[in-house]
Amino acid sequence: MWINGSGHPGSGDGREIVNPGTGATLDTTVDGTGDDVAAAVEAAAAAAPEWAATDTTKRAKILHAVADALQEQSSDIVATLVAEQGKPTLEANGEFHHMLAGLRYYADAATKVRGTYQDLPSQFGPAYGLILRRPFGVVGAIIPWNFPLTLLANKLGPALAAGNTVVAKPSETTPLSTLKVAQIATEAGLPDGVFNVVTGAGATGQALVGHPEVRRIAFTGSTATGQKLMETAGPMLKHVSLELGGSDPTIVLPDADLDGAIKNIQIGRYWNAGQVCLAPKRAFVHADVFDEFVEKLSSRIQRYEPGDGTTKPDKPHLRIGPMHTAAQRDLLVEQVADATDAGAEMVTGGHVVDGSSEGDGHFYQPGLAVNVPTDSRLATEEVFGPVLPVWSIDSLDEAIERANDTQFGLGSSIWTTDAAAIQRAVNDIDAGITWVNQLHYGYDEMPFGGTKMSGLGKEHGLEALAEYSELKSSVVGGLA
Ligand code: NDP
Repeated sequence: MWINGSGHPGSGDGREIVNPGTGATLDTTVDGTGDDVAAAVEAAAAAAPEWAATDTTKRAKILHAVADALQEQSSDIVATLVAEQGKPTLEANGEFHHMLAGLRYYADAATKVRGTYQDLPSQFGPAYGLILRRPFGVVGAIIPWNFPLTLLANKLGPALAAGNTVVAKPSETTPLSTLKVAQIATEAGLPDGVFNVVTGAGATGQALVGHPEVRRIAFTGSTATGQKLMETAGPMLKHVSLELGGSDPTIVLPDADLDGAIKNIQIGRYWNAGQVCLAPKRAFVHADVFDEFVEKLSSRIQRYEPGDGTTKPDKPHLRIGPMHTAAQRDLLVEQVADATDAGAEMVTGGHVVDGSSEGDGHFYQPGLAVNVPTDSRLATEEVFGPVLPVWSIDSLDEAIERANDTQFGLGSSIWTTDAAAIQRAVNDIDAGITWVNQLHYGYDEMPFGGTKMSGLGKEHGLEALAEYSELKSSVVGGLA
Protein backbone atom coordinates (compact mmCIF):
# COMPACT_ATOMS: atom_id res chain seq x y z
CA MET A 1 0.00 0.00 0.00
CA TRP A 2 1.05 3.59 -0.34
CA ILE A 3 -0.09 5.87 2.46
CA ASN A 4 1.08 9.36 3.34
CA GLY A 5 3.99 9.31 0.94
CA SER A 6 5.52 5.95 1.83
CA GLY A 7 5.02 2.20 1.67
CA HIS A 8 2.59 0.80 4.25
CA PRO A 9 2.68 -2.90 5.16
CA GLY A 10 -1.10 -3.36 5.66
CA SER A 11 -2.71 -5.63 8.22
CA GLY A 12 -4.84 -8.09 6.22
CA ASP A 13 -4.18 -11.36 4.45
CA GLY A 14 -1.55 -11.68 1.75
CA ARG A 15 -2.55 -12.04 -1.89
CA GLU A 16 -0.48 -13.33 -4.80
CA ILE A 17 -0.51 -11.25 -7.98
CA VAL A 18 -0.34 -13.55 -10.97
CA ASN A 19 0.55 -12.99 -14.63
CA PRO A 20 -2.60 -14.09 -16.51
CA GLY A 21 -0.55 -14.99 -19.58
CA THR A 22 1.90 -17.35 -17.87
CA GLY A 23 0.46 -18.17 -14.45
CA ALA A 24 3.69 -16.95 -12.83
CA THR A 25 3.47 -15.24 -9.45
CA LEU A 26 4.71 -11.66 -9.80
CA ASP A 27 4.47 -10.33 -6.28
CA THR A 28 2.40 -10.43 -3.12
CA THR A 29 0.20 -7.66 -1.77
CA VAL A 30 -1.85 -7.40 1.41
CA ASP A 31 -5.63 -6.98 1.52
CA GLY A 32 -6.42 -3.68 3.18
CA THR A 33 -8.51 -3.93 6.35
CA GLY A 34 -10.78 -1.25 7.79
CA ASP A 35 -7.77 0.00 9.79
CA ASP A 36 -5.64 0.33 6.66
CA VAL A 37 -8.43 2.19 4.86
CA ALA A 38 -8.84 4.46 7.90
CA ALA A 39 -5.10 5.22 7.90
CA ALA A 40 -5.21 6.13 4.21
CA VAL A 41 -8.31 8.32 4.60
CA GLU A 42 -6.78 10.01 7.65
CA ALA A 43 -3.63 10.83 5.65
CA ALA A 44 -5.73 12.15 2.75
CA ALA A 45 -7.92 14.24 5.08
CA ALA A 46 -4.86 15.72 6.81
CA ALA A 47 -3.32 16.67 3.45
CA ALA A 48 -6.55 18.09 2.01
CA PRO A 49 -6.62 21.66 3.40
CA GLU A 50 -3.08 22.48 2.28
CA TRP A 51 -3.56 20.92 -1.16
CA ALA A 52 -6.85 22.82 -1.64
CA ALA A 53 -5.09 26.04 -0.63
CA THR A 54 -2.12 25.45 -2.93
CA ASP A 55 -1.92 28.05 -5.68
CA THR A 56 -3.47 26.57 -8.82
CA THR A 57 -0.42 27.24 -11.00
CA LYS A 58 1.67 25.34 -8.46
CA ARG A 59 -0.84 22.49 -8.42
CA ALA A 60 -0.69 22.40 -12.23
CA LYS A 61 3.12 22.39 -12.15
CA ILE A 62 3.23 19.49 -9.71
CA LEU A 63 0.78 17.46 -11.80
CA HIS A 64 2.89 18.09 -14.92
CA ALA A 65 6.00 17.06 -12.97
CA VAL A 66 4.24 13.82 -12.02
CA ALA A 67 3.39 13.16 -15.68
CA ASP A 68 7.00 13.89 -16.71
CA ALA A 69 8.37 11.53 -14.06
CA LEU A 70 5.98 8.78 -15.13
CA GLN A 71 7.07 9.25 -18.72
CA GLU A 72 10.70 8.84 -17.73
CA GLN A 73 9.86 5.48 -16.17
CA SER A 74 7.46 4.37 -18.89
CA SER A 75 9.19 1.10 -19.77
CA ASP A 76 9.07 -0.16 -16.18
CA ILE A 77 5.41 0.84 -15.71
CA VAL A 78 4.37 -0.62 -19.07
CA ALA A 79 6.18 -3.91 -18.33
CA THR A 80 4.39 -4.12 -14.97
CA LEU A 81 1.04 -3.47 -16.64
CA VAL A 82 1.67 -6.19 -19.25
CA ALA A 83 2.70 -8.66 -16.56
CA GLU A 84 -0.21 -8.12 -14.17
CA GLN A 85 -2.99 -7.43 -16.69
CA GLY A 86 -1.93 -9.67 -19.59
CA LYS A 87 -2.41 -7.21 -22.46
CA PRO A 88 0.17 -7.02 -25.27
CA THR A 89 2.96 -4.45 -24.90
CA LEU A 90 1.59 -2.40 -27.82
CA GLU A 91 -1.77 -2.03 -26.06
CA ALA A 92 -0.13 -1.36 -22.67
CA ASN A 93 1.88 1.44 -24.28
CA GLY A 94 -1.33 2.89 -25.66
CA GLU A 95 -2.94 2.75 -22.23
CA PHE A 96 0.11 4.33 -20.58
CA HIS A 97 0.15 7.26 -23.02
CA HIS A 98 -3.59 7.73 -22.62
CA MET A 99 -2.99 7.98 -18.86
CA LEU A 100 -0.31 10.64 -19.38
CA ALA A 101 -2.54 12.61 -21.76
CA GLY A 102 -5.34 12.53 -19.18
CA LEU A 103 -3.07 13.71 -16.36
CA ARG A 104 -1.69 16.53 -18.51
CA TYR A 105 -5.15 17.59 -19.65
CA TYR A 106 -6.20 18.01 -16.01
CA ALA A 107 -2.87 19.56 -15.00
CA ASP A 108 -3.68 22.34 -17.49
CA ALA A 109 -7.28 22.47 -16.27
CA ALA A 110 -6.21 23.02 -12.66
CA THR A 111 -5.93 26.74 -13.42
CA LYS A 112 -9.39 26.89 -15.00
CA VAL A 113 -11.74 25.98 -12.14
CA ARG A 114 -14.29 28.80 -12.18
CA GLY A 115 -17.28 30.01 -10.20
CA THR A 116 -19.77 32.71 -11.25
CA TYR A 117 -21.11 36.11 -10.22
CA GLN A 118 -24.76 37.19 -10.05
CA ASP A 119 -26.26 40.66 -9.62
CA LEU A 120 -29.00 40.54 -6.98
CA PRO A 121 -32.00 42.66 -6.06
CA SER A 122 -31.92 43.79 -2.42
CA GLN A 123 -33.96 46.03 -0.16
CA PHE A 124 -30.94 46.59 2.08
CA GLY A 125 -28.52 48.29 -0.28
CA PRO A 126 -26.51 46.84 -3.16
CA ALA A 127 -25.83 43.13 -3.04
CA TYR A 128 -24.42 40.47 -5.30
CA GLY A 129 -24.13 36.71 -5.34
CA LEU A 130 -21.01 34.58 -5.70
CA ILE A 131 -21.26 30.96 -6.75
CA LEU A 132 -18.09 29.29 -5.57
CA ARG A 133 -16.60 25.90 -6.38
CA ARG A 134 -15.11 24.04 -3.42
CA PRO A 135 -13.35 20.68 -3.42
CA PHE A 136 -14.96 17.83 -1.48
CA GLY A 137 -11.89 16.90 0.53
CA VAL A 138 -11.18 13.16 0.25
CA VAL A 139 -12.17 11.30 -2.92
CA GLY A 140 -12.34 7.48 -2.98
CA ALA A 141 -11.40 6.09 -6.41
CA ILE A 142 -12.26 2.45 -7.17
CA ILE A 143 -10.76 1.00 -10.34
CA PRO A 144 -11.20 -2.30 -12.22
CA TRP A 145 -8.57 -4.52 -13.81
CA ASN A 146 -9.20 -3.94 -17.50
CA PHE A 147 -7.50 -0.50 -17.77
CA PRO A 148 -5.80 0.00 -14.39
CA LEU A 149 -3.88 3.11 -15.47
CA THR A 150 -6.27 5.11 -17.66
CA LEU A 151 -9.19 4.49 -15.34
CA LEU A 152 -7.00 5.68 -12.45
CA ALA A 153 -5.98 8.85 -14.34
CA ASN A 154 -9.63 9.60 -15.23
CA LYS A 155 -10.26 10.03 -11.51
CA LEU A 156 -6.92 11.15 -10.12
CA GLY A 157 -6.46 13.96 -12.68
CA PRO A 158 -9.70 15.89 -12.14
CA ALA A 159 -9.85 15.12 -8.41
CA LEU A 160 -6.37 16.54 -7.74
CA ALA A 161 -6.78 19.42 -10.22
CA ALA A 162 -9.93 20.51 -8.40
CA GLY A 163 -8.10 20.49 -5.06
CA ASN A 164 -9.15 17.16 -3.54
CA THR A 165 -6.95 14.41 -2.16
CA VAL A 166 -7.41 10.78 -3.20
CA VAL A 167 -7.46 7.26 -1.79
CA ALA A 168 -7.44 4.77 -4.68
CA LYS A 169 -8.38 1.09 -4.50
CA PRO A 170 -7.15 -0.76 -7.60
CA SER A 171 -8.51 -4.19 -8.49
CA GLU A 172 -7.16 -7.00 -6.33
CA THR A 173 -5.54 -8.49 -9.45
CA THR A 174 -3.85 -5.34 -10.86
CA PRO A 175 -2.43 -3.25 -7.98
CA LEU A 176 1.25 -3.23 -8.97
CA SER A 177 1.24 -0.58 -11.71
CA THR A 178 -0.93 1.69 -9.51
CA LEU A 179 1.52 1.36 -6.60
CA LYS A 180 4.39 2.26 -8.93
CA VAL A 181 2.51 5.34 -10.14
CA ALA A 182 1.89 6.45 -6.54
CA GLN A 183 5.54 6.07 -5.56
CA ILE A 184 6.76 7.95 -8.66
CA ALA A 185 4.18 10.71 -8.03
CA THR A 186 5.49 11.21 -4.49
CA GLU A 187 9.10 11.26 -5.71
CA ALA A 188 8.11 13.86 -8.34
CA GLY A 189 6.85 16.24 -5.65
CA LEU A 190 3.21 15.37 -4.98
CA PRO A 191 2.87 16.16 -1.26
CA ASP A 192 2.51 13.26 1.18
CA GLY A 193 -1.07 12.16 1.71
CA VAL A 194 -2.40 13.74 -1.49
CA PHE A 195 -2.53 10.37 -3.31
CA ASN A 196 -2.80 7.13 -1.33
CA VAL A 197 -3.37 3.55 -2.49
CA VAL A 198 -4.99 0.74 -0.51
CA THR A 199 -4.77 -2.71 -2.04
CA GLY A 200 -7.34 -5.46 -1.57
CA ALA A 201 -10.58 -6.86 -2.93
CA GLY A 202 -14.27 -5.96 -2.63
CA ALA A 203 -14.26 -5.72 1.19
CA THR A 204 -11.49 -3.10 1.05
CA GLY A 205 -13.47 -1.12 -1.53
CA GLN A 206 -16.55 -1.43 0.64
CA ALA A 207 -14.64 -0.04 3.65
CA LEU A 208 -13.50 2.92 1.55
CA VAL A 209 -17.04 3.64 0.34
CA GLY A 210 -18.36 3.39 3.91
CA HIS A 211 -15.76 5.69 5.49
CA PRO A 212 -17.59 8.85 6.61
CA GLU A 213 -14.73 11.19 5.64
CA VAL A 214 -14.82 10.11 1.99
CA ARG A 215 -17.39 12.51 0.56
CA ARG A 216 -17.02 11.70 -3.15
CA ILE A 217 -16.75 8.24 -4.71
CA ALA A 218 -15.55 7.70 -8.27
CA PHE A 219 -16.19 4.13 -9.38
CA THR A 220 -15.61 2.15 -12.55
CA GLY A 221 -16.73 -1.45 -12.64
CA SER A 222 -19.69 -3.70 -13.18
CA THR A 223 -23.30 -2.60 -12.88
CA ALA A 224 -23.87 -5.14 -10.07
CA THR A 225 -21.00 -3.74 -7.95
CA GLY A 226 -22.13 -0.18 -8.71
CA GLN A 227 -25.58 -1.02 -7.36
CA LYS A 228 -24.05 -2.57 -4.24
CA LEU A 229 -21.88 0.49 -3.69
CA MET A 230 -24.96 2.73 -3.86
CA GLU A 231 -26.54 0.77 -0.99
CA THR A 232 -23.75 2.13 1.23
CA ALA A 233 -23.15 5.51 -0.39
CA GLY A 234 -26.84 6.42 -0.83
CA PRO A 235 -27.87 6.58 2.85
CA MET A 236 -24.64 8.48 3.60
CA LEU A 237 -25.57 11.04 0.89
CA LYS A 238 -22.19 10.75 -0.80
CA HIS A 239 -21.50 12.24 -4.21
CA VAL A 240 -20.99 9.35 -6.59
CA SER A 241 -20.00 8.81 -10.20
CA LEU A 242 -20.48 5.33 -11.64
CA GLU A 243 -18.96 4.20 -14.94
CA LEU A 244 -20.55 0.79 -15.39
CA GLY A 245 -20.99 -1.93 -17.97
CA GLY A 246 -22.14 -1.48 -21.53
CA SER A 247 -23.30 -3.34 -24.62
CA ASP A 248 -22.63 -0.72 -27.26
CA PRO A 249 -24.48 -1.08 -30.57
CA THR A 250 -22.75 -0.22 -33.84
CA ILE A 251 -24.86 0.36 -36.95
CA VAL A 252 -23.43 -0.02 -40.46
CA LEU A 253 -25.50 1.39 -43.35
CA PRO A 254 -25.01 0.47 -47.04
CA ASP A 255 -23.30 3.74 -48.01
CA ALA A 256 -20.63 3.40 -45.29
CA ASP A 257 -16.91 3.18 -45.94
CA LEU A 258 -17.16 -0.55 -45.26
CA ASP A 259 -13.44 -1.24 -44.94
CA GLY A 260 -13.08 1.68 -42.50
CA ALA A 261 -16.03 0.43 -40.48
CA ILE A 262 -14.66 -3.12 -40.37
CA LYS A 263 -11.20 -2.01 -39.29
CA ASN A 264 -12.51 0.23 -36.50
CA ILE A 265 -15.09 -2.25 -35.26
CA GLN A 266 -12.34 -4.88 -35.20
CA ILE A 267 -10.06 -2.67 -33.09
CA GLY A 268 -12.93 -1.57 -30.84
CA ARG A 269 -14.25 -5.07 -30.16
CA TYR A 270 -11.02 -7.09 -29.91
CA TRP A 271 -8.67 -4.56 -28.22
CA ASN A 272 -7.69 -5.67 -24.70
CA ALA A 273 -9.07 -9.14 -25.56
CA GLY A 274 -12.54 -7.63 -25.71
CA GLN A 275 -12.41 -6.59 -22.07
CA VAL A 276 -13.42 -3.00 -22.75
CA CYS A 277 -16.45 -1.14 -21.45
CA LEU A 278 -16.98 1.12 -24.47
CA ALA A 279 -16.52 -1.52 -27.17
CA PRO A 280 -18.91 -2.19 -30.05
CA LYS A 281 -20.57 -5.32 -28.64
CA ARG A 282 -23.62 -5.70 -30.92
CA ALA A 283 -23.29 -5.02 -34.65
CA PHE A 284 -26.35 -4.20 -36.79
CA VAL A 285 -25.32 -4.30 -40.45
CA HIS A 286 -27.58 -3.47 -43.39
CA ALA A 287 -28.62 -6.54 -45.44
CA ASP A 288 -27.05 -5.04 -48.60
CA VAL A 289 -23.55 -5.24 -47.10
CA PHE A 290 -24.03 -7.91 -44.41
CA ASP A 291 -22.33 -10.82 -46.21
CA GLU A 292 -19.33 -8.71 -47.23
CA PHE A 293 -19.02 -7.31 -43.69
CA VAL A 294 -19.11 -10.76 -42.08
CA GLU A 295 -16.65 -12.27 -44.55
CA LYS A 296 -14.11 -9.44 -44.32
CA LEU A 297 -14.29 -9.01 -40.55
CA SER A 298 -14.02 -12.80 -40.02
CA SER A 299 -10.93 -13.01 -42.15
CA ARG A 300 -9.32 -10.11 -40.28
CA ILE A 301 -9.95 -11.61 -36.85
CA GLN A 302 -8.55 -14.95 -37.95
CA ARG A 303 -5.19 -13.19 -37.84
CA TYR A 304 -5.32 -12.99 -34.05
CA GLU A 305 -2.98 -15.33 -32.25
CA PRO A 306 -3.71 -15.45 -28.51
CA GLY A 307 -0.58 -15.43 -26.38
CA ASP A 308 1.52 -13.91 -23.63
CA GLY A 309 1.53 -10.10 -23.95
CA THR A 310 5.33 -9.88 -23.89
CA THR A 311 5.69 -11.87 -27.10
CA LYS A 312 4.88 -11.04 -30.73
CA PRO A 313 3.71 -13.51 -33.37
CA ASP A 314 5.09 -13.55 -36.91
CA LYS A 315 3.26 -11.36 -39.42
CA PRO A 316 0.47 -11.37 -40.57
CA HIS A 317 -0.64 -12.65 -37.16
CA LEU A 318 -1.63 -10.19 -34.47
CA ARG A 319 -1.17 -10.69 -30.75
CA ILE A 320 -4.24 -10.81 -28.53
CA GLY A 321 -3.64 -11.28 -24.81
CA PRO A 322 -5.31 -13.71 -22.43
CA MET A 323 -8.64 -13.22 -20.73
CA HIS A 324 -7.71 -11.63 -17.42
CA THR A 325 -9.00 -14.43 -15.18
CA ALA A 326 -10.34 -17.96 -15.54
CA ALA A 327 -13.71 -16.70 -14.23
CA GLN A 328 -13.85 -14.07 -16.98
CA ARG A 329 -13.10 -16.72 -19.62
CA ASP A 330 -15.63 -19.17 -18.15
CA LEU A 331 -18.37 -16.52 -18.21
CA LEU A 332 -17.71 -15.94 -21.92
CA VAL A 333 -17.76 -19.68 -22.60
CA GLU A 334 -21.20 -19.88 -20.92
CA GLN A 335 -22.57 -16.90 -22.86
CA VAL A 336 -21.38 -18.36 -26.18
CA ALA A 337 -22.77 -21.83 -25.36
CA ASP A 338 -26.12 -20.30 -24.46
CA ALA A 339 -26.29 -18.66 -27.90
CA THR A 340 -25.01 -21.61 -29.95
CA ASP A 341 -27.34 -24.04 -28.12
CA ALA A 342 -30.20 -21.78 -29.25
CA GLY A 343 -29.09 -21.75 -32.91
CA ALA A 344 -26.32 -19.13 -33.19
CA GLU A 345 -23.49 -19.95 -35.58
CA MET A 346 -19.84 -19.10 -34.98
CA VAL A 347 -18.41 -17.98 -38.32
CA THR A 348 -14.94 -18.08 -36.81
CA GLY A 349 -13.34 -18.69 -33.40
CA GLY A 350 -15.41 -18.36 -30.25
CA HIS A 351 -13.72 -21.04 -28.17
CA VAL A 352 -11.00 -21.58 -25.60
CA VAL A 353 -7.65 -22.08 -27.34
CA ASP A 354 -6.85 -25.78 -27.65
CA GLY A 355 -4.47 -26.89 -24.93
CA SER A 356 -4.93 -23.68 -22.92
CA SER A 357 -4.89 -24.63 -19.26
CA GLU A 358 -4.72 -22.77 -15.98
CA GLY A 359 -0.95 -22.61 -15.95
CA ASP A 360 -0.69 -21.47 -19.57
CA GLY A 361 -3.04 -18.50 -19.35
CA HIS A 362 -6.71 -18.07 -20.12
CA PHE A 363 -6.48 -17.86 -23.89
CA TYR A 364 -9.58 -17.52 -26.04
CA GLN A 365 -9.80 -17.56 -29.83
CA PRO A 366 -11.67 -14.41 -30.90
CA GLY A 367 -15.04 -15.11 -32.44
CA LEU A 368 -17.74 -13.67 -34.67
CA ALA A 369 -21.31 -14.99 -34.40
CA VAL A 370 -24.36 -14.75 -36.66
CA ASN A 371 -27.98 -15.88 -36.28
CA VAL A 372 -27.75 -15.06 -32.58
CA PRO A 373 -31.20 -15.27 -30.91
CA THR A 374 -32.10 -11.86 -29.52
CA ASP A 375 -33.05 -13.36 -26.17
CA SER A 376 -29.77 -15.28 -25.74
CA ARG A 377 -27.15 -14.18 -23.19
CA LEU A 378 -24.78 -13.14 -25.99
CA ALA A 379 -27.35 -10.51 -26.96
CA THR A 380 -28.83 -9.45 -23.60
CA GLU A 381 -25.80 -9.46 -21.27
CA GLU A 382 -22.61 -7.46 -21.41
CA VAL A 383 -20.04 -9.61 -23.27
CA PHE A 384 -16.67 -8.80 -21.75
CA GLY A 385 -14.51 -10.78 -24.13
CA PRO A 386 -13.54 -11.10 -27.81
CA VAL A 387 -16.80 -12.23 -29.43
CA LEU A 388 -19.03 -10.09 -31.64
CA PRO A 389 -22.62 -10.97 -32.60
CA VAL A 390 -23.61 -9.49 -35.98
CA TRP A 391 -27.22 -9.09 -37.11
CA SER A 392 -28.63 -8.11 -40.51
CA ILE A 393 -31.04 -5.17 -40.50
CA ASP A 394 -33.27 -3.79 -43.26
CA SER A 395 -33.67 -0.17 -42.17
CA LEU A 396 -32.31 2.49 -39.88
CA ASP A 397 -35.57 2.42 -37.89
CA GLU A 398 -35.07 -1.28 -37.20
CA ALA A 399 -31.41 -0.73 -36.26
CA ILE A 400 -32.20 2.04 -33.79
CA GLU A 401 -35.05 0.11 -32.21
CA ARG A 402 -32.79 -2.90 -31.70
CA ALA A 403 -29.85 -0.77 -30.58
CA ASN A 404 -32.02 0.64 -27.79
CA ASP A 405 -33.42 -2.76 -26.80
CA THR A 406 -30.98 -3.18 -23.90
CA GLN A 407 -30.69 -2.22 -20.25
CA PHE A 408 -27.33 -0.57 -21.07
CA GLY A 409 -26.63 2.89 -22.50
CA LEU A 410 -22.89 3.48 -22.50
CA GLY A 411 -21.64 4.09 -26.07
CA SER A 412 -22.93 3.59 -29.62
CA SER A 413 -21.79 4.24 -33.17
CA ILE A 414 -23.05 4.59 -36.72
CA TRP A 415 -21.21 4.16 -40.02
CA THR A 416 -22.72 6.25 -42.84
CA THR A 417 -22.32 9.64 -44.53
CA ASP A 418 -26.09 10.19 -44.83
CA ALA A 419 -26.64 13.37 -42.80
CA ALA A 420 -30.25 12.57 -41.94
CA ALA A 421 -29.31 9.09 -40.69
CA ILE A 422 -26.50 10.55 -38.59
CA GLN A 423 -28.87 13.11 -37.10
CA ARG A 424 -31.36 10.36 -36.19
CA ALA A 425 -28.72 8.22 -34.56
CA VAL A 426 -27.26 11.12 -32.59
CA ASN A 427 -30.73 12.13 -31.37
CA ASP A 428 -32.41 8.77 -30.86
CA ILE A 429 -29.87 6.21 -29.64
CA ASP A 430 -30.08 6.00 -25.86
CA ALA A 431 -26.41 6.19 -24.92
CA GLY A 432 -23.92 8.52 -23.30
CA ILE A 433 -22.08 8.98 -26.61
CA THR A 434 -22.58 8.25 -30.32
CA TRP A 435 -19.47 8.03 -32.46
CA VAL A 436 -20.03 8.74 -36.18
CA ASN A 437 -17.57 6.97 -38.50
CA GLN A 438 -15.15 6.81 -35.55
CA LEU A 439 -13.55 4.29 -33.23
CA HIS A 440 -15.19 3.76 -29.83
CA TYR A 441 -12.59 5.73 -27.90
CA GLY A 442 -12.70 7.84 -24.75
CA TYR A 443 -11.32 11.29 -25.59
CA ASP A 444 -9.88 13.25 -22.67
CA GLU A 445 -11.61 16.35 -24.06
CA MET A 446 -15.14 14.89 -24.26
CA PRO A 447 -17.43 14.03 -21.33
CA PHE A 448 -18.00 10.28 -21.22
CA GLY A 449 -20.46 8.29 -19.14
CA GLY A 450 -23.50 6.12 -19.54
CA THR A 451 -27.24 6.42 -19.27
CA LYS A 452 -29.74 3.72 -18.14
CA MET A 453 -27.92 0.91 -16.27
CA SER A 454 -24.51 2.05 -17.58
CA GLY A 455 -23.97 4.66 -14.94
CA LEU A 456 -24.25 8.08 -13.41
CA GLY A 457 -22.10 11.16 -13.96
CA LYS A 458 -19.26 11.81 -16.37
CA GLU A 459 -15.54 11.21 -16.65
CA HIS A 460 -13.26 13.21 -19.02
CA GLY A 461 -13.58 16.80 -20.15
CA LEU A 462 -14.12 19.94 -18.11
CA GLU A 463 -17.50 18.44 -17.16
CA ALA A 464 -15.67 15.82 -15.08
CA LEU A 465 -13.57 18.52 -13.45
CA ALA A 466 -16.81 20.19 -12.34
CA GLU A 467 -17.96 16.91 -10.78
CA TYR A 468 -15.01 17.01 -8.37
CA SER A 469 -16.15 20.19 -6.67
CA GLU A 470 -19.42 21.32 -5.16
CA LEU A 471 -21.14 24.65 -5.49
CA LYS A 472 -21.51 27.03 -2.59
CA SER A 473 -23.46 30.27 -2.85
CA SER A 474 -22.69 33.47 -1.03
CA VAL A 475 -24.83 36.62 -0.94
CA VAL A 476 -22.72 39.68 -0.24
CA GLY A 477 -24.03 43.11 0.76
CA GLY A 478 -23.14 46.04 3.01
CA LEU A 479 -20.03 46.98 1.05
CA ALA A 480 -21.33 50.13 -0.64
P1 NDP B 1 -16.18 -5.06 -10.50
O1 NDP B 1 -17.40 -4.23 -10.34
O2 NDP B 1 -16.19 -6.44 -10.01
O3 NDP B 1 -14.91 -4.35 -9.82
C1 NDP B 1 -14.62 -3.00 -9.98
C2 NDP B 1 -13.85 -2.50 -8.75
O4 NDP B 1 -14.71 -2.51 -7.61
C3 NDP B 1 -12.67 -3.39 -8.37
O5 NDP B 1 -11.63 -2.60 -7.80
C4 NDP B 1 -13.29 -4.28 -7.31
O6 NDP B 1 -12.34 -4.89 -6.49
C5 NDP B 1 -14.14 -3.29 -6.55
N1 NDP B 1 -15.21 -3.86 -5.75
C6 NDP B 1 -15.76 -5.11 -5.83
N2 NDP B 1 -16.76 -5.23 -4.91
C7 NDP B 1 -16.85 -4.04 -4.27
C8 NDP B 1 -17.69 -3.54 -3.23
N3 NDP B 1 -18.65 -4.28 -2.68
N4 NDP B 1 -17.51 -2.27 -2.79
C9 NDP B 1 -16.57 -1.48 -3.36
N5 NDP B 1 -15.73 -1.91 -4.33
C10 NDP B 1 -15.87 -3.17 -4.80
O7 NDP B 1 -15.86 -4.96 -12.04
P2 NDP B 1 -14.82 -5.79 -12.85
O8 NDP B 1 -13.52 -5.79 -12.14
O9 NDP B 1 -15.45 -7.06 -13.23
O10 NDP B 1 -14.64 -4.83 -14.14
C11 NDP B 1 -15.28 -5.03 -15.30
C12 NDP B 1 -16.55 -4.20 -15.39
O11 NDP B 1 -16.23 -2.83 -15.39
C13 NDP B 1 -17.31 -4.43 -16.67
O12 NDP B 1 -18.70 -4.55 -16.41
C14 NDP B 1 -17.06 -3.18 -17.48
O13 NDP B 1 -18.02 -2.86 -18.42
C15 NDP B 1 -16.94 -2.16 -16.41
N6 NDP B 1 -16.15 -1.07 -16.91
C16 NDP B 1 -16.77 0.11 -17.16
C17 NDP B 1 -16.08 1.17 -17.70
C18 NDP B 1 -16.75 2.48 -17.96
O14 NDP B 1 -16.04 3.47 -18.12
N7 NDP B 1 -18.06 2.55 -17.99
C19 NDP B 1 -14.64 1.06 -18.03
C20 NDP B 1 -14.08 -0.23 -17.70
C21 NDP B 1 -14.83 -1.24 -17.15
P3 NDP B 1 -11.74 -6.32 -6.93
O15 NDP B 1 -11.45 -6.28 -8.38
O16 NDP B 1 -10.54 -6.39 -6.11
O17 NDP B 1 -12.82 -7.30 -6.61
